[in-house]
Amino acid sequence: MSDTTATHQFRAETRKVLNILTHSLYTNREIFLRELISNASDALDKLRFLQGKGEAVRDPDLPLEIAITVDKTQRLLIIRDTGVGMSREEMAENLGTIAHSGSEAFLRDLAEAAGTADNKDTAGSIIGRFGIGFYSVFMAADKVEVISRPAVGDAPASLWTSDGEGEFTLGDAPEADAVTRGTLIRVFLKEDATEFLEKYRLEDIIRTHSNFISFPILLEGERVNTTPALWREPKFSISKEQYADFYKFLTYDAKPPLDTLHLSVDAPVQFNALMFIPDVTRDYFGAYRDHWGLDLYVRRVLIQRENKDLVPEYMAFLKGVVDTEDLPLNISRETLQGNLVLRKIAQTLTRQTLSHLERMAESDPEAYKAFWRLHGKVFKLGYNDFVNRDRIVPLLRFNSSALDDADALTSLDEYIGRAKEGQKEIWYAAAPGREAARLNPHVEVFRRKGIEVLYLFEPVDEFALETLGSYKEFAFKAVEHADSAVLDKFRNADEDTPKSAPLSDDDLTAFDALLKTIGKTLGDHIKEVRVSRRLADSPACLVAPDEGVTSSMDKIMRVLHKDDSIPQKIFEVNRDHPILRTLLRIHKTDPDSPQLAEMIRNLFDAALLLDGYVGDPYALAGRVNKLLEEAGAWYVEVRKL
Ligand code: ADP
Ligand code: MG
Repeated sequence: MSDTTATHQFRAETRKVLNILTHSLYTNREIFLRELISNASDALDKLRFLQGKGEAVRDPDLPLEIAITVDKTQRLLIIRDTGVGMSREEMAENLGTIAHSGSEAFLRDLAEAAGTADNKDTAGSIIGRFGIGFYSVFMAADKVEVISRPAVGDAPASLWTSDGEGEFTLGDAPEADAVTRGTLIRVFLKEDATEFLEKYRLEDIIRTHSNFISFPILLEGERVNTTPALWREPKFSISKEQYADFYKFLTYDAKPPLDTLHLSVDAPVQFNALMFIPDVTRDYFGAYRDHWGLDLYVRRVLIQRENKDLVPEYMAFLKGVVDTEDLPLNISRETLQGNLVLRKIAQTLTRQTLSHLERMAESDPEAYKAFWRLHGKVFKLGYNDFVNRDRIVPLLRFNSSALDDADALTSLDEYIGRAKEGQKEIWYAAAPGREAARLNPHVEVFRRKGIEVLYLFEPVDEFALETLGSYKEFAFKAVEHADSAVLDKFRNADEDTPKSAPLSDDDLTAFDALLKTIGKTLGDHIKEVRVSRRLADSPACLVAPDEGVTSSMDKIMRVLHKDDSIPQKIFEVNRDHPILRTLLRIHKTDPDSPQLAEMIRNLFDAALLLDGYVGDPYALAGRVNKLLEEAGAWYVEVRKL
């Protein structure tokens, strides 16, 4: 070691990752080779990109390739590439820290994967996806040396060494190790990792994981990888397995893709695209926020991974590559943004993807539903795409009261097909789940009349329907805004069968008096109290005074405005419900009974809870307990226990 060598500490999060990699992950260690090869390939891509721009690089005639050799006596595996290389600063930065944000979520995932018995696929795909690839070498090595020399400039080669525990050293590379351009990695294998010295084993690993690398991979001088740029090949010549292999290579997913879209387009711009719809869900608004977009190639040269101008965000679920002849090779990544060629490609890809989904929905509705369950959360954001809106709306899916369970889905066209004669609205109820939607008192009248209600489980659904306004002359409308005059047009044969005996004229008058007492008891918690025409099974509900926002929207706004007050609404009671009948009896003999007042407050609290608001939980619990105490005491007395 030269005297310029300095010792550095790994950053805390790097140490945590290394600790898991070296001490917890034992299965599927072979993927470390995939990661080193993929880094070598990235470095070669970068070099080719520089050359494309006409920049001067060291040793321009050196072939672009990856060479792998072994030294059994030293238990040593060597991987070298002729790519861009790294300066000393870059080595400190790239091999000392973890680049990606979201490393908290990642650490959790990784630790979890390490903890599961079969961590094969999980850990492998996590490592690849989160860009901690280099460190995975310590699954198989107890010491690693990296010697690298940048392709641009005169900087000498530097040597990085580490045993993957707490620290690494960085200094000048010894004369004998001075690579001319690129990177050489010496992997000193652990005692139990000698399998990675066997040629047949290495060959197998390279074929499995790295067959689509676009530079030659030479193992002991012989080329191993064979597959060309698949997206440039004619469709008919590619087998399903080849597509699946390429998908796996691209995404590290264990499961084959749900669907494959392979396009070759000549006008208005020339490009080939090979895109996949994964058979797994990813949270593109959370941990995978930046991990979407398509890889952009210009004449087989990788220009940018995960380019986000090639597809709209609501198609973030698409994985794949685009290769065009219509961009110059020397285009800089900065000028890509807002580039007209990319915009045209994006328009074509968007339309083609929509056509593909339309065909799927038409010819294989079950497959489309599978797509929706995986990616609907992302795709439904397409309601914001004004240009393609008319094609996106028919592709939306919802759960509804007419379906058997929470997993079932309906399209808006199917809903319209089931609509009642004369129905002018598509009704919806926002709720966190199907059970909650079913229990929503506002839905009762619809159930009674046999009118279908869409159940919206996510806030974005309601935003979407409000933005869209209508579909095929049917207005989207929240059940809580239902006007009884409109609903009265739809009568069901049995809906008039009374649940309780009708009240006498005297009792009707007495009930009006009860309403006054309810109004007085609840004071300004409510706007007014009235007899409901919408309730069948529930004793009471709250109704917004006008057609303002729905209560689910209101809640979102209150969260946004940090407003925790409770809106004043109309309190509707079900005159035929046993609770109300009991209240009427008490009220007739003892209108000032404190018991009655407590029951009224409880009735209101229950309605408030169903509306999604929690008033005063302490007062509510106190009242419920008091009622229980009294009911219990009466029960004991009546049963003579
Ligand atoms: P990722 O490849 O996702 O960025 P890695 O942990 O695999 O994460 O690599 C970290 C970084 O180290 C790379 O981004 C690259 O800058 C650098 N690096 C690793 N291997 C090489 C190599 N062979 N040549 C040049 N740079 C490399
Ligand atoms: Mg990598």
